[in-house]
Amino acid sequence: MLPPIDAHAHIQTGVSARDIAGLKAFVVAVTRERKEWGPALRRTDRLAVWGVGVHPGLPVEISDFDQAAFGEAVERACFVGEIGLDGKSKASMDSQRHVLTQILEVVAARPRPTTIHSAAASGPVLNALRERPIRAPILHWWRGSEKQTREAVELGCYFSINGAEVRRPKVLSLLPPERVLTETDFPYSRRSDPTATQPAAVGSTERALMQNWGLDELALRRLLWQNLAELFDRCDLTERVPSAVQEAMLAAGFR
Ligand SMILES: [Zn+2]
Repeated sequence: MLPPIDAHAHIQTGVSARDIAGLKAFVVAVTRERKEWGPALRRTDRLAVWGVGVHPGLPVEISDFDQAAFGEAVERACFVGEIGLDGKSKASMDSQRHVLTQILEVVAARPRPTTIHSAAASGPVLNALRERPIRAPILHWWRGSEKQTREAVELGCYFSINGAEVRRPKVLSLLPPERVLTETDFPYSRRSDPTATQPAAVGSTERALMQNWGLDELALRRLLWQNLAELFDRCDLTERVPSAVQEAMLAAGFR
């Protein structure tokens, strides 16, 4: 059986490799601050990759953003995130937009799957992606309107879904199955999904997807792994991800 996928979780960079392996899942561990990038990029987890991120909700990360330093970190990473815009952030929307543009320039030049935050900023995030397209955008915890969701699909976006969307479905039925991933956004989705008690606890999301699409667990996992494989393939990164991840993508029947 292919392991579950958590495409967006917050994990401290100092956590032991054993604890991560114990999750028995593929995890994208996202970061929010520059000081996390170094420790994240030195990790060699078997079934996890670490993203380099600049969280739009953290004003200091926005005001101190350095495009060259970010570019160097992205060079070494095989995932970017989390990044994006936040309508409730204390950082001004203008300054957030300015940083996001610079981030998207870096990712356009060095394609990476990119997990994007858009809380109270669905429209502005879509505008930014339209102006500076990137190869593998993933809208995480997406709460856009129907119209915006259709636009996002047209822009080539993926969607990583957690228990909050499952509990109060807004866009689930609009999403093409080949563009969907599962996530926990641990520890933040716990409020809406009491079962998401740790990274990789994507059970309630998986059950909803199985029901929605009429798939059994094996078929769902295969689909999710193929979607992940497609993202790495779009960025020519298949050879750079950990070998256990490559093996699972092959087992899922990707190419
Ligand atoms: Zn997050």
